Order: sequence, then C-alpha cells, then structure tokens
Amino acid sequence: MTRTATLVVAVAMAACARAPRVTPPAPSRSMSIPEVSARALRVYREAIVIDTHNDMPSKILEDGYDPDVRHPPGFKATEGNTDFPRLVESGMTAVFMSAWVDAPYADSAGASFARASRHIDAIHAFVDRHPDRLLFATTAADVRRAKQEGKVAILIGVEGGHAIEGSLDRLRDLHARGARYLTLTWNNGNAWAGSSIGVGKTRTGGLTPFGRDVVREMNRLGMLVDLSHVSDSTYFDAIAVSTMPVIASHSSARAISDVPRNLTDDQLRAIARNGGVVNVNFYSRFIDTRYRDAIERVEETVRQARAAARASAEDSARAAARIAAMSDSLAAAIPPTPFGVLIDHIAHIATVAGVEHVGLGSDFDGVSALPLGMEDVTRLPRIAQALLDRGYSEDDVKKMLGGNMLRVMERVLGR
Ligand SMILES: [Zn+2]
Repeated sequence: MTRTATLVVAVAMAACARAPRVTPPAPSRSMSIPEVSARALRVYREAIVIDTHNDMPSKILEDGYDPDVRHPPGFKATEGNTDFPRLVESGMTAVFMSAWVDAPYADSAGASFARASRHIDAIHAFVDRHPDRLLFATTAADVRRAKQEGKVAILIGVEGGHAIEGSLDRLRDLHARGARYLTLTWNNGNAWAGSSIGVGKTRTGGLTPFGRDVVREMNRLGMLVDLSHVSDSTYFDAIAVSTMPVIASHSSARAISDVPRNLTDDQLRAIARNGGVVNVNFYSRFIDTRYRDAIERVEETVRQARAAARASAEDSARAAARIAAMSDSLAAAIPPTPFGVLIDHIAHIATVAGVEHVGLGSDFDGVSALPLGMEDVTRLPRIAQALLDRGYSEDDVKKMLGGNMLRVMERVLGR
C-alpha cells in the first residue's frame, strides 16, 4: 500500500524527498510497450505467475469499490487495476491480497487487529462469491492446484506489524484466519520493529528481543516474514534471526531509484544468501527518479497554492476544489514512466541477487501512478515479453514470474 491520498503518506513522501540522491545508471527511456508474441504468451501461460502485493481490499473498504465487476484502469474510486473479470482474464496463478492497516489505527487499542480482520473478511467474502474461478490458498500445493483447475489462487498478506498489537496470540490468530505473510512494519515503525521512513516519528531502528520472537514464531507457524517497508537495520536483524527464507513483497532497487522503500545492493545480496525473493514494486514514484522529481514539484506547487489560499479571502471549500483540480491536471501532465524502467529493476535485482531471487509485487490498487503499458493485472504478460527480449531464458522468465516465490512458499508455508 502506497496511497498518496492520506496525510500520513504525504508526510511519508516528504521524508522520501529528503533522501540523498545518487546518479542512477542510464535507464530505459524508450516509450515503447512490448508487443506480446505467441512465444511470450506460451511462456506466461506455462508459468506459475504470482503477484505478492495487491491492495484491492483497501479499495473495497475505503472507496466502496465493487470487485466483482469490470472497471476501467485508473486510480480514482470508480477505477482500478484489479477486479474479478480482469483477474480471470489476466491468467495469473496467484495473488496475495493485502490486509493493510494504516498508521493511525496504532493509536487506539484493539483497532489495528480489528482493521486487519475486516480486510481478511472482505478477502474471504470475495473468494466465496466466485468458487468456480477463485480458490482460497494458504500453501504452495494450493497454488499448484489452482493452476491445474484454471483458477486464480487468492492468498492473504497482512501489511503492518502493528496489526498484532504486540501479541504473539494475535499473530497466531491472523495465521489461523489464513494470513500467510506479515509485513513487519508499514510506513510507521512499531514497538518491536523499525520502518524505513518512521512516519509520525515512529521507530526506524532494528528488531527488539520481542521482534526477534515474532520472526521465530512466524518461522514456526509457517508464515512468510515480509521485509518491505522496514528499516535497513530491521531488515538485516530479521534475516539474521530467521531460519527460513524471507521475502520483500513489494520493493524495488535503490541503486536505480534512491528511495528508502527500495533495497540496496547489500540487502539484495543478503536476501539471496537467505534463499528469499525480492518482489518488484511497480509504483512509478519508487522506480523512476524522473517521475518522482516531477510529482514532488507538483506537490510543492500545491503546498504553495494552499498557503496562498489560506492567506486570501477565498472561500475555503472553493479553494480546496480549485487546488484539487489543479493538482490532478498537473499530475496528469507528467509523462508516464516507460515500461522498460520496471524491467530495469527486475534485471538489476537478477544481476545482483541472482535470477533465483526476484519476483513480482505490483502494489496494484495501492499506488497513484504505474508505468505506461502496465495499467492493470491483464498487462502482466508484457513482463514475460520484455524479459525474453532482454535475453533471459524461458526457464529464468518463469522463475521471475512466480517460480521463485513458489519455491519459497513450498519451503516456508508447509502443508
Ligand atoms: Zn506497502
């Protein structure tokens, strides 16, 4: 989840903006979208395709989004990157739906676990309405069965360690309700794990002794330890204590785009030694420095307009509507991220960590901008084409599309 609509995220993004800049390697700037050949489509259809992070459940709870009917691609409440018809059409094998707990829930007792539970209810209800084409999954074997039966496997990942409210019993409850990963933090750190940006002045340090117990209990339960969003020190602490492969469910490469949410080359090598997988986030703001600079300029313009409106006699509701419209049109005028930039991140991780340690974690329906040609779940076969175009073997492409994640799930999730 990477919503820009909330104040929390606006603050988080301001934190990103203060990160030091490095000169990225020359990125792919061609605006061409890969044409999917018969060969690429065959490779995609033969593969187990897994997306490890999709935020459609948040759209259901927050926007009243109906996941059962087709929507146009986009980022408004009436648009989306995912729904039942397009999931089926996409031909993907499995997707982890995110039970995201926003930071403010941490401020009231019981609210964070309750919020995660509401997401989990919504995900179960979605699967239950479509037993012919969806299959609720908790193991690698379930994912293989979905592939055989021509269904899409739906799994649950809980995003934000504050969901367990400092209790291993709550962690076990989430597992019992079907959750198969926990992202140790969201943008907010918690009492036992630090986040990459420490939104709201929360922790950015490493794991506490209780945090290590959380990782051990996840290993014991058969639950994936997800290190997207966590601080660098929590990242290395978790890898040191985990006896199982870990994942980053939606993170890209910091060497290409220097934001704290992305992973350094040292972190990529560490997850490779651990046997885990980094699943690449598609969000333009995280993967494309040019897009990020442009959207930050828009945000600065909006901040100045708000300050000017406050100092003027303009009616506040009218000013808010005017500035919102200006913000939308300025953001819409930013050239989209070329498709190749997304592939640059996959290729970089494959080079540094190895082709066995990269996968897909779109962040669909949790972001406000995506690369040109990657507007929704039905566009995933283009990744197969682009990777074949870059010279990867068919076997390697299948690993990156989901084979690597299936390997880790086989090892960690148990029967
Ligand atoms: Zn997220």
